[in-house]
Amino acid sequence: MKYNLILSAAALCVSTVAYGQTAVITAANDPALNPTNAEVFTPVPNVVTPAKTFGNAPSDAIVLFNGKNLDEWVSTKDQSPAKWKIAGDALTVDKSTGDIRTKRDFGSFQLHIEWKVPADITGEGQSRGNSGIFLSSRYEIQVLDTYNNDNKTYVNGMAGSIYREAIPLVNPAKKAGEWNAYDIAYTAPQFNEDGTLKTAARVTIFFNGVMVQNNEAIEGATATDTKHVYAKHGPAPIVLQSHGDKSAPISFRNIWIRE
Ligand code: MG
Repeated sequence: MKYNLILSAAALCVSTVAYGQTAVITAANDPALNPTNAEVFTPVPNVVTPAKTFGNAPSDAIVLFNGKNLDEWVSTKDQSPAKWKIAGDALTVDKSTGDIRTKRDFGSFQLHIEWKVPADITGEGQSRGNSGIFLSSRYEIQVLDTYNNDNKTYVNGMAGSIYREAIPLVNPAKKAGEWNAYDIAYTAPQFNEDGTLKTAARVTIFFNGVMVQNNEAIEGATATDTKHVYAKHGPAPIVLQSHGDKSAPISFRNIWIRE
């Protein structure tokens, strides 16, 4: 079809030259105007079976935690088996053993992770159900009890924030004792050969199904001051934070990732 069109267009062009007339551009002589040429048939996308229930892992996900074991995780400080506590389908932070990280490295990904602040949470500000999810081991998406904006803290440190950078667009947090979900689409940063930044990391976050970060550029590695800088890196683990405050530890469940 396309070949014939090109031939006829070429023939028309020749006749136009021969008779010195101006051709009218139509779908018959310009392949770009033919709708058929706008239909692409390869490559065919892979079929993925969606989960029956929202939030459960689709068929091509790597399940990082489903309540059974911590086989995908190690302790960040010494790479020994992760020691956080599993009860039912939930994984609870053990503040005595520190952060945990995935055994695997990831570049860009889609991550689903659910978290719950205990109903009897105490403390205030950043000392009330604090944890976090570090993308590429460096860029923290904050976890904190900020339900109903009741717990006053800096807004770029609320749940759903890129910590100390980007304020969530809205606050759809559930109250302590209820499960929250983050669905995070993360594009890893790219670096030049000399280590300088080529393109910043970007992140989109749905918090309980509500967009709170929209393709937001990350400024650099999370730090307590305002100077967040990039240092060249490749694929890296995801880290879950064991925060040192005195409030009761939070829990995670249903963690899966699609590279
Ligand atoms: Mg945190």
